[in-house]
Amino acid sequence: MREFNEHQNNGFKGVGISRIITMIRFDIITIFPEMFRPIINESILKRAQEKKKIQIHVHDLRDYSDDKKHRKVDDRPFGGGPGMLMTPQPLFDAIKAIKGRRKAHVIYTSPAGRTFSQSHAKHLTGFKNLIIICGHYEGIDERVRQHLVDEEISVGDYVLTGGELPAMIIVDALARLVPGVLGKEESLVQESFEGHLLEGPQYTRPANFRGIKVPDVLLSGNHKAIETWRKEEALGLTQRLRPDLLEKKRSQKC
Ligand code: SAM
Repeated sequence: MREFNEHQNNGFKGVGISRIITMIRFDIITIFPEMFRPIINESILKRAQEKKKIQIHVHDLRDYSDDKKHRKVDDRPFGGGPGMLMTPQPLFDAIKAIKGRRKAHVIYTSPAGRTFSQSHAKHLTGFKNLIIICGHYEGIDERVRQHLVDEEISVGDYVLTGGELPAMIIVDALARLVPGVLGKEESLVQESFEGHLLEGPQYTRPANFRGIKVPDVLLSGNHKAIETWRKEEALGLTQRLRPDLLEKKRSQKC
């Protein structure tokens, strides 16, 4: 069922990025395919596709509905209750069609899923092919979850109207981890969540903006001193804003 890129080890604990990932293919199943166009056809995601570092295929779930006339994909929940649910037939058939061509790991975007994180994103780069189901209404029929979904991912403890924004978040976070997608690979090493730290403060020109000055050390040309300053600042910021990250680091060491 799962097809890993060669390197996959990821005990899922902030492991390093593989050098063997060459491309990730995303198949996104949604009832709002148009929502993706503006995001995936701009900026880094657009260039990543042009460079063949990622492929994004957006599938309209309604194309798979047996109801050819109304293209219906939802129905009322058994036992009553508010709202509608996505029916199993179109989702089963969509996934069957996509998986018929290649093995893939199936993600359902769901508030009940594991909360997405940078280490989770790295873990997922181990898969060459990812199918992402975007839920809508009150969610999906439980049989889809039980029989087709490999994992559920939440983007936070709040409820959105649909899984399209979470799907885009997942695609964006993974795409930038594929070597060659970002201009400078070292920006991946220096950014937030690496080593359980937030990225420290950064400054650009002018050195003096309306009387607010850049710290002297950054203008000193002393690379060792700059590195030490950056580490201390990152640590201080993390302690102030996200002490939980440092706690995680400590407990992992133990
Ligand atoms: N009735 C569901 C519940 O209480 O968990 C919420 C359904 S929500 C209105 C519709 C869809 O949005 C979900 O099926 C899911 O795909 C997506 N969604 C909503 N919040 C999400 C979140 N925090 N993370 C990921 N997906 C979310």
